[in-house]
Amino acid sequence: MPHTPRSVIPRARRARAALLACVVAGCLIAASAPRSAEPQGIGDRLYPSLGNPGYDVLSYDLSFTYPGSNSKPLTAVTRIRARATERLESVNLDFTHGTVSSVDVNGAPADFTGAGEDLVITPAAPIPKGGALVITVRHTSDPMSGKGRDGGWVQTDDGLVMANQADAAHQVFPCNDHPSDKAQFTFHVTAPDGYTAVANGLPWGTRHTGGATTWTYRTQHPMATELAQVSIGRSVVLHRRGPHGLPVRDVVPAKDEAQLEPWLAKTPGQIAWLEKKVGPYPFETYGLLIAQARTGFELETQTLSLFEKGVFSEPAYPGWYVESVMVHELSHQWFGDSISPRTWSDVWLNEGHATWYEALYAEENAHRPLQERMKAAYGLSDRWRATGGPPAAPEPPRQGQKISIFRPSVYDGSALVLYALRQEIGRAAFERLERTWASLHRDGTTTTADFEELASRQAGRDLSAFFQGWLYGRKTPPMPGHPDWKSGSA
Ligand SMILES: [Zn+2]
Repeated sequence: MPHTPRSVIPRARRARAALLACVVAGCLIAASAPRSAEPQGIGDRLYPSLGNPGYDVLSYDLSFTYPGSNSKPLTAVTRIRARATERLESVNLDFTHGTVSSVDVNGAPADFTGAGEDLVITPAAPIPKGGALVITVRHTSDPMSGKGRDGGWVQTDDGLVMANQADAAHQVFPCNDHPSDKAQFTFHVTAPDGYTAVANGLPWGTRHTGGATTWTYRTQHPMATELAQVSIGRSVVLHRRGPHGLPVRDVVPAKDEAQLEPWLAKTPGQIAWLEKKVGPYPFETYGLLIAQARTGFELETQTLSLFEKGVFSEPAYPGWYVESVMVHELSHQWFGDSISPRTWSDVWLNEGHATWYEALYAEENAHRPLQERMKAAYGLSDRWRATGGPPAAPEPPRQGQKISIFRPSVYDGSALVLYALRQEIGRAAFERLERTWASLHRDGTTTTADFEELASRQAGRDLSAFFQGWLYGRKTPPMPGHPDWKSGSA
């Protein structure tokens, strides 16, 4: 899709100190004619400008200071540790929607400028291939969503939460904003008295000074930028234990605690159910972040899934449905979070699996037959493929609606692929495949080809023709075992 830059990064700010550092170091590169700063991307078919080549991020250390209003910019410091995978004269980060005041690279001030949705940084000296990079960016992070922007900070009734999928983390902090580059995260969030801040991972201490508290959280597993979560609000944090003593913590508006508790109490049982299906829960903690906000979606932010409060208070939603939505986001901790898509075209691996376990849970716990749901999905599948593309080759997002890749063909249309696979290879091989997939690729990134290969291995035969039709065909192939199922006639 056409790139629509909306950079608010000041252009061509040249730090005088950088020049001085350069002179002292005898560096000639920066003294030569400045090269034009260009936005870069790693060539994702659906989001070509996301991510940047030339380095691998190892960790993010993010500091946010909340001013006590959710419509004013936060002040922030982003420190990125990375390793150069090629010689770098300049380094691109994805960032928009904030003002950068300074950038240091390896302790020395660096030049920077905005280009499209990139922050282009020119260090005092080139970074050699394999060299270490520590980039410190001082900036603001503006929670007011720009026109036509999806996600990033989300304003709630009492503060802020994040919803960065698929391409909005760089509206919040400078980063290599692509799930193929996972990294460790540390968060320091400072907020005035009366607020509580929670982020992904486990608490790592608090410090109280002069009417404000700084909370620190740290992830124990690598994470994609799109799954970062920071909640700031008038919240309570509720603690309980999951299977094997897993710490479960939920973050809810303080006034809603009693009403939400019956739902929150279901999480340990849901984790135990999923562990029986696919193996051990992959992270150090889990819980629900329930926000009084109108996002129109729930989101599997790592170790702390985001839900709109309305999911739990809408009288039209039956209990089994609410529970299946909870299981959907929980399933993503294995499928989508622990195992990240290498490209956004692989997102069917996230949503297909989350929808599959959502539907399977409803079958086993609420008598909602999976086969009926799959038959209904089969009936619609040709139309979904016609409008959104086949599951593993989705159409690019519509302009101005970047989350529009989240279409029926990657939800029920992709759960249908898993159903067809189970029909094709049998239940035992399918269940073995799922468990092996979850353990083999824990904390990794995978492609559709990886899944096809492992499925073939578990089935003991080449399934490439099967997957070609089911994942890439414009028409839905015949359903194994159900020759009477028809698609697309309505
Ligand atoms: Zn999902």
